[in-house]
Amino acid sequence: MNNSYDIVIIGAGPAGCAAALTLRESGLTVAIIDKEKFPRDKVCGDAIPGPAFKVMHKINPLWADEMKEFTLAHKIKTGQVTAPNGKTMKLDWVTFSYNSKRIDFDNYLFNLVKTETSATIIESKRLKDISIDKNHVTCQFTDNSAIQASIVIACDGANSVVRRKFSEEVTNKDNICTAVRAYYKDVEGIQPGVNEFHFFTDLAPGYFWIFPLENGWVNIGFGILQKKSDNTKKPINLRNALHQIVNQMPSISPRFKNATLMQEVKGFGLPLGVNQNSVSGSRFMLCGDAASLIDPLQGHGIDHAMTSGHLAGIQAIKCFEADKFDASFIKQYDQALYAKIGKELSRNTFFLRIGSLFPWLLNIAVTIGQNQRLIERIVRFLKI
Ligand SMILES: Cc1cc2nc3c(=O)[nH]c(=O)nc-3n(C[C@H](O)[C@H](O)[C@H](O)COP(=O)(O)OP(=O)(O)OC[C@H]3O[C@@H](n4cnc5c(N)ncnc54)[C@H](O)[C@@H]3O)c2cc1C
Repeated sequence: MNNSYDIVIIGAGPAGCAAALTLRESGLTVAIIDKEKFPRDKVCGDAIPGPAFKVMHKINPLWADEMKEFTLAHKIKTGQVTAPNGKTMKLDWVTFSYNSKRIDFDNYLFNLVKTETSATIIESKRLKDISIDKNHVTCQFTDNSAIQASIVIACDGANSVVRRKFSEEVTNKDNICTAVRAYYKDVEGIQPGVNEFHFFTDLAPGYFWIFPLENGWVNIGFGILQKKSDNTKKPINLRNALHQIVNQMPSISPRFKNATLMQEVKGFGLPLGVNQNSVSGSRFMLCGDAASLIDPLQGHGIDHAMTSGHLAGIQAIKCFEADKFDASFIKQYDQALYAKIGKELSRNTFFLRIGSLFPWLLNIAVTIGQNQRLIERIVRFLKI
């Protein structure tokens, strides 16, 4: 293994793969390094948002078509929202999206990197520490090896080593949502092509989801803002909350009476894009969850991870063309990123705050939402 590259990408999730695919014709030496051996699981709702396909289309239209045809994917056209008062509305999405288990989807993306780029692939290698001097980035790994590069693209997820070392952002409870996910089989009342979102008065601000997958499997989960669960005298135990919903909630539990849990319940954090912090500095860029880019309202982050990975790849090429790696030059990445997704993050942060303060508003929204023309206008406005 070489120990010096032009660019090192840490993390081979959607952000890292988008960066590596963007760099494929750059002529630069690239290494992409992940602590796991793929295929690997990632705790997620498994809903691949429509904009992820648009990013792939920018990278290579043929791959975007291939991604749409991805055989294990389940096409989704509608979101169904059930308010705490039990009223339901359906939103037919403008852009199509797919549900696909992340173990399959991420492996598919990483295989594209393996087969279509000349990047050096390094699996089962965990970044322990990183240092940056005037001329180099040095990555140190838990196996005591080290790799040097001119620039690092940090796509190492919600617990990013690079963000903790270099970003001024303090991850606080305002911008972290925690969630648990479980796979079930044979849940009743599943509508093909429909993702369900259920809101409950005593479990706000958070929601329970049921997303259909292939072969009768469903991905279910429950997520809530950490701040809320800390403020209450009795913190919400997410696993217990999920168990309670599935086994006791009158609107849900009858649907699970013949269902089988297929895998242990797993939890993970969602760094929400509420603050729009700096995501770069001298010789480094943060992407995806490492940059806290998850949509605060809907909880999707795969699309933003791919957008940021793609833009970081473009910025890295510019750095080599101009031979500039200083923080002010790399700042162009922040500008390009927030020009692309900043408005959406601000708008959905606003809706999150309003929804957290006045959870009963959802009852009104869903009641109004039974007006189909209004719904179409909302869907167009939110671009979902
Ligand atoms: C419960 C839950 C449900 C969600 N549901 C959805 C959903 O339905 N749709 C959606 O769009 N988004 C969803 N998200 C958000 C989505 O999962 C993330 O936004 C997305 O995975 C971010 O991609 P990423 O590439 O930045 O990070 P990740 O997908 O987390 O990839 C990071 C990679 O870095 C590797 N890594 C981490 N640390 C190191 C290290 N020290 N050294 C080397 N490698 C390292 C990891 O192994 C991993 O492969 C959900 C998140 C959670 C927690």
